[in-house]
Amino acid sequence: SNAAVESTARVADLAMRRATLLRRAPLAIELGEALEHGQLRLDYQPLYSMGSGEVVAVEALLRWQHPTRGTLPPAEFLDVAEGPHLIAPIGDWVMRTAVEQAAQWQRVLGEGAPRMWVNVSCNQFGGHRLVRVLERLLEEHRLQPGSLGVEVTERQLARHIDDVGSDLNGLRDLHVPMAVDDFGTGYASLDYLRRFPFDEIKIDRSFVAGLPVPINTAIISSIITLGTSLGMTVVAEGVETAEQRDILTALGCGFSQGYLFHRPAPAEALTALLGA
Ligand code: C2E
Ligand code: MG
Ligand code: MG
Ligand code: MG
Repeated sequence: SNAAVESTARVADLAMRRATLLRRAPLAIELGEALEHGQLRLDYQPLYSMGSGEVVAVEALLRWQHPTRGTLPPAEFLDVAEGPHLIAPIGDWVMRTAVEQAAQWQRVLGEGAPRMWVNVSCNQFGGHRLVRVLERLLEEHRLQPGSLGVEVTERQLARHIDDVGSDLNGLRDLHVPMAVDDFGTGYASLDYLRRFPFDEIKIDRSFVAGLPVPINTAIISSIITLGTSLGMTVVAEGVETAEQRDILTALGCGFSQGYLFHRPAPAEALTALLGA
């Protein structure tokens, strides 16, 4: 019967969820300890103006300096980090570290300091917790309004848009710029762009990697048109070759980020690059 099939499916689903939890448990414990023992760090990757070639912003990217496995990128641990017990402490640590670094560059460079972009997970939204944490940090470190922005992936926005509006508005009230990350790959309808005014969209690097194949050129071109006509800044991610850069410039893309310009690097390297 249908009911029997459904109940079998439910049991299988539960078993799978339990297996996933059990598989992740050791990593979750280890990651919690890593946070306590100072094994997490942020690298920073500059974003460049295509017109002037200047660094206009930096993106903070989480790394785990693992004692035996070397430096781990977020892909190795982010789904565990975004779990219920770790997302608040790790998210807060990322925010505090990024704010402290932004404040340090602001002290030396003043108005010329680059904007700091921080990636956040939608699991950090709900109940304005992140809004309050950020409000306190911005005040404590006297960061200029607009000098720290928040990136959320389109994929997460598509999944959570009904639950995150209030927190997004809270961030807006703090004058925190907001960017849609990995734009074009999140299976999102464009409805969320009408529901919430983002400041920036970041074209997913898979489209950039696909240049000069015409379909990618066409998609990038229409994203630039859409973003620009909505008053948003458009950034291309993952620029690796001069050819990609030249096509993006010709298409009118204002800003770029990628290995061609600079890899993510520790704060000291960025400090040297910025002359801070
Ligand atoms: P993202 O926000 O889209 O960040 C850009 C990713 O592309 C980074 O990967 C960066 O190292 C990589 N990248 C930059 N330029 C190039 C390039 O030219 N070619 C290629 N192939 N890759 C390039 P990373 O650091 O491994 O981070 C992966 C994702 O993890 C990020 O994607 C972001 O969604 C997430 N993430 C990183 N840090 C945090 C964090 O602190 N919190 C949260 N919630 N998510 C984070
Ligand atoms: Mg990002
Ligand atoms: Mg991205
Ligand atoms: Mg990406």
